Amino acid sequence: MNSNHINLKGLDRIELESYVQSWGEPKYRAKQLMSWIYQKGISDFESMTNLPKSFRHTLSSQATISRTEIVTSSVSTDDKSIKYLFRLSDGKQVESVLMFDQQRITACLSSQFGCAMGCQFCATGKMGFFKNLTTAEILDQFMGIEQELGREKSITNVVFMGMGEPFANYKPTIKAIRLLCNPETIGMAERRITVSTVGLAPQIRRFANEGLKCKLALSLNATTNADRSQLMPINFQFPIDEILSATKHWAKTTGELATLEYVLIRGINDRTKDAERLCQLMANLPCKLNIIPFNEIEDSNFQRPDANAIENFQKIITQNHYVAPIRFSKGNDITAACGQLRTIYHQAGKTMTGMI
Ligand code: SAH
Ligand code: SF4
Repeated sequence: MNSNHINLKGLDRIELESYVQSWGEPKYRAKQLMSWIYQKGISDFESMTNLPKSFRHTLSSQATISRTEIVTSSVSTDDKSIKYLFRLSDGKQVESVLMFDQQRITACLSSQFGCAMGCQFCATGKMGFFKNLTTAEILDQFMGIEQELGREKSITNVVFMGMGEPFANYKPTIKAIRLLCNPETIGMAERRITVSTVGLAPQIRRFANEGLKCKLALSLNATTNADRSQLMPINFQFPIDEILSATKHWAKTTGELATLEYVLIRGINDRTKDAERLCQLMANLPCKLNIIPFNEIEDSNFQRPDANAIENFQKIITQNHYVAPIRFSKGNDITAACGQLRTIYHQAGKTMTGMI
C-alpha cells in the first residue's frame, strides 16, 4: 500500500463525505463508496462503475482501500475452528480465529499487536506490546475472514478476544464496531458483538455511554486483590471493587447482563473458597459467569485443573443459583484457544519464538 495514499477503509460516513466533497463531488458518493468497500468488497476504484470516470482516476492516484493478506490458516482437528494469520499493510502479523458452533459462526478479532497488560497466564501478554491496530486493520480481519468463508456462510458473531486489550485501543475499536454495525456497510447486529476487557474501569464506564447494545465481558480471573494482582498486574491500578462497580454501571446503563470470565488455573484460583468468594462478588452484579479452563501456554508452569476440580468449582457456583457454563476453548490443537495467540515476530534481527 502506498503510504501517501489515504486509506478509505475505516473512515466513517462523515469523514468519507468530507473527503469526497474535498474533490468537488456530492456527499452521496460517500454512500456509494461504502457500498463498494464493505458490501461488495471491491478495492479497485476503476471497477466502481457508478462513480464518474474522472473521480475514479483521482481516487486511484490519491486513495487506497486496504486488504489483508492471509499468510497461513490452520484448521483444528475437530473442524470447529480456524486460525488465520494476517499480514497487515505494515508487514506485522496478527491472528484472528473463526469458531463454528451449531448455527453460530464467531470471529474472534485482535485489537492490538501484542498486549501491554502482562497477564501471567496469557501468551499474548508474554509477547509484549508492539502496536495498536487501526480501525481499518480491525475491519480487515473481519472482511478477510468473510472472504475466506465464501458466499454461502457469513460471520454471525464477533468477539474482541483475540490479541490485545480492546479498551487500551479504545477509539479505533469503537469506530470499528460502529462501522461493523452500520447498515450501509456490514450491518452486524450490535448485540452480536462482545468486547472482552482486562478491566480498564474508566473505559468500561465510557463504553456504557456509547449507546451501543454490544455485550461486555470482564476478565476477572481471581477473587482477592492479592491473587488478582499476582496474575494481572493491571489490578494494582484498577482493583476488584473498582472494576466491578464500573461493570455494574455498564449493566445498569445498558440493561444488559455482564459476563464475568474466569480462567481456572490449578492450585491458583480453583479452590473452594475462590468459588465461594466468586458467588459473593456476583451477588451484587447483574451477570453470568464463563468458566474457562486454562489453556496451556509456553514458558508457564500454570496448569489446567483436572475435570473433577473444574466440575466441583462449577457446582459451587450453580448451587448458589448463578449461571456458570464451562467454556472449553476451541482450537487448542492449533493454539487458537483463548490466550494462546502469539505471533512469530522478527524485529531488527531478533526472532521472538512463537507458537505457530
Ligand atoms: N484483553 C482482553 C481480551 C483478550 S483475552 C481480556 O483480557 O479480556 C480473551 C480472554 O482469554 C480473557 O478472558 C482472558 O482471561 C482469556 N485467557 C487469556 N489467557 C488464557 C489462557 N492461557 N487460557 C484460557 N483463557 C485465557
Ligand atoms: Fe492482554 Fe487480555 Fe492477554 Fe491480559 S489476557 S495479556 S489483557 S490479551
